[in-house]
Amino acid sequence: MMEYKLLGSTELLVSKIGFGCSPFGDVYNSLDLVEAQRTVHMAIDKGINFFDVSPYYGITLAEERLGKVLAGKRHHIVLATKCGRYGFADFDYSARAVIDGFDASLLRLKTDYVDLLQVHDVEFGAYEQIVEETLPALRQIQAAGKARYIGITGYPLGMLARIASSVPVDSVLTYCRHNLASTDMDNVLSPIVKRRGVGLINASPLHMGLLTEPGAPDWHPAPPELKEIGRQVVQFAKTRGLRLSTQALRFCLDHPDVCSTLVGMSTRKHVAWNLEALNSVSDKEVQLEIRDMFGHLFNYVWPSGRPENSDHKTCFGHNLHVEGLLNVKG
Ligand code: NAD
Repeated sequence: MMEYKLLGSTELLVSKIGFGCSPFGDVYNSLDLVEAQRTVHMAIDKGINFFDVSPYYGITLAEERLGKVLAGKRHHIVLATKCGRYGFADFDYSARAVIDGFDASLLRLKTDYVDLLQVHDVEFGAYEQIVEETLPALRQIQAAGKARYIGITGYPLGMLARIASSVPVDSVLTYCRHNLASTDMDNVLSPIVKRRGVGLINASPLHMGLLTEPGAPDWHPAPPELKEIGRQVVQFAKTRGLRLSTQALRFCLDHPDVCSTLVGMSTRKHVAWNLEALNSVSDKEVQLEIRDMFGHLFNYVWPSGRPENSDHKTCFGHNLHVEGLLNVKG
């Protein structure tokens, strides 16, 4: 049975397993649209109600496809999209860009509002602009009735925590910071968002494919040694008679403060496997062995965004890394 949680202090009741739509932008493989439609309908029938997309995924393709396959189902789901990131190196966090860009998202998604509008990958913007211009523009969009709630997403925990502790946001999404390869989300971000009643969304429980049989895609930012460990971990789970993805998702679902764990899906097989995680139990011994296999690359952090927004730099006037508050390596 699917479980639901309120997203922070909002009225959005989201499924503990969320449907990540980056695969709809051909981020991993090219999408079979018929299968994708069946997958979305199956997920909704099985109680998955939280869907996350972005104009960045496939450069508008994912939103357009999701809009198509959601025909007649829009009001059955909690729909989240993003703004500010429009290509691999195409960012615009100005008020004008996010307001106009979001209107285009609504057209693609064939709806007149989203439940959650998030600033995508805040670390590629200037902190001051995100706080003083972008988020106020999102509040304007909210006041116009086009977005019920607003949030931020990104990779560096320090910047997300800094924003969430300075200005009101309804949700924070981070990725690859709490799963079988990394658990540093709790060192900085989780306590702050919990204290402020902000909804915590954990994305990429499979470390963007690294914890799956096909392995990490070519564009994956992890170094080759980490990808190799991912392959070994998949084989190790097999020798224990386990499917790694199920263990990996179960591990994420066990987090007490995460409202929804977003996993990228585009096939019914993956929906079925991920639903199995709901009824499975964590094998703590296997999880500890996997942690050991990652060795010094456990909690590996790759660069993302502007250098000044990196976790390795000063946040809150402190160097979190040096002070041991942030257990990052790499
Ligand atoms: P993920 O860790 O969920 O991995 C997705 C990959 O695993 C895909 O190739 C998918 O086909 C495969 N997969 C899914 N279920 C599987 C299973 N049971 N067994 C084997 N393989 C399986 O990574 P993700 O898709 O990048 O992250 C999930 C979602 O979170 C994204 O789709 C997106 O919506 C969101 N996200 C947001 C941000 C951001 O806002 N900055 C960043 C990353 C992810």
